[in-house]
Amino acid sequence: MKNEICILVKDLLPSYIDGVCSEDSITIIENHISECEECKALYESMKSDFMADEDLYADNGSAGSEEASEFETTGLAGNSTVGKDIDEGTSPSEKTGKVNSDYKYRERNIGNGSDDYDRELLKKVNEKIKKRENKFKVASLVAIAAAVVLILVMFLPIVPVRHDSMDIRVLVNNMSNYSLDEFPEAGKFEDLKDDNTIFVYDDDCVKNKAFDELTFYEVNAPILPQDTTFMVAEGFDLSKLVVVEVSSNKIIKSYSYKEKNSRLVFSHFRTSLAGLILSNDENSFTTRVVNFDGVKEVVFE
Ligand SMILES: [Zn+2]
Repeated sequence: MKNEICILVKDLLPSYIDGVCSEDSITIIENHISECEECKALYESMKSDFMADEDLYADNGSAGSEEASEFETTGLAGNSTVGKDIDEGTSPSEKTGKVNSDYKYRERNIGNGSDDYDRELLKKVNEKIKKRENKFKVASLVAIAAAVVLILVMFLPIVPVRHDSMDIRVLVNNMSNYSLDEFPEAGKFEDLKDDNTIFVYDDDCVKNKAFDELTFYEVNAPILPQDTTFMVAEGFDLSKLVVVEVSSNKIIKSYSYKEKNSRLVFSHFRTSLAGLILSNDENSFTTRVVNFDGVKEVVFE
């Protein structure tokens, strides 16, 4: 007989520990484990396994272990009460009532515990998802920043280009051999302007006139390139005019020039990584620098 109930109790113990047994089963189990050392031992070991599993799920273990200790205390109290009731020969109805109330109390605790546990688990899952999302966001930002840096590096003028690998010519230096009378087409700025026209004037020409009122003459010097028209304002001193053409098969993104003691100094020719990669004769770069301050020498550094 004892063996048969032991087998039944062993089968029911997992459900009992999970808190899903019927009240009748609980009564049977608790009565039995209060008097059967073997089943009690089994119950204790299964219960501690169950607690260990719960602790495993709870990362910090605080919520889990609190629940665990509460559960354990209640369970033991229940057992000892039941045991005492039996020893003292309490009537079955009283005993059942006692066990029931213990069971309900415990069920409530387990119920609350498992709700808390679910909430805790859900919170942790959400935190993990959030962490993962944050990691993804950080990774995206890093990728975007890297792309921006790459684009900047590709297109910023940071690669030096040696001036002796370029074609730099002084096209005009002192045009005083030409007289204004030789420039047949003259007109106002508004009538003459187009993309390839360079207007040359200085303070001596402007005087009190508005810019639009200045009369310009075309420079017909044969040395000038075909695609550019120089219009020189009436009164401009042609001996002060310097025109420098800078050509390169590299795409020159930036360069600087400055006047120093009647010297026009060109330096810091730069291209970008993209410019360097794309550079070829078709992408050649040409610019014309016009200076009219009486420069006597043009220098490339
Ligand atoms: Zn037993």
